[in-house]
Amino acid sequence: MVLTPKTKRKTWKSTANKLWRKKAAWIAGNGPIALLAHCNVLTVTLWPTLEEALGAKSTIDQFNCGGRCNRNHEIVDLAQLGYGPHR
Ligand SMILES: [Zn+2]
Repeated sequence: MVLTPKTKRKTWKSTANKLWRKKAAWIAGNGPIALLAHCNVLTVTLWPTLEEALGAKSTIDQFNCGGRCNRNHEIVDLAQLGYGPHR
């Protein structure tokens, strides 16, 4: 990971970490759109656009997200909730 002076700014990843670190098994990716899978354990993937998040969701809706999937998948728009680096 390349550290630049601007790295101190909050990222979507750090925002997601703050929100879900205690519950999530892992948090991957980076972006304002979070795809949550509340299956067995909570896993979170972050996406730069809603389209990509929806694409990923339809994939895990169809093929399982892994483990004991009960199709409990949810998309959360962090920017819409007022979180993120811009605040
Ligand atoms: Zn699932």
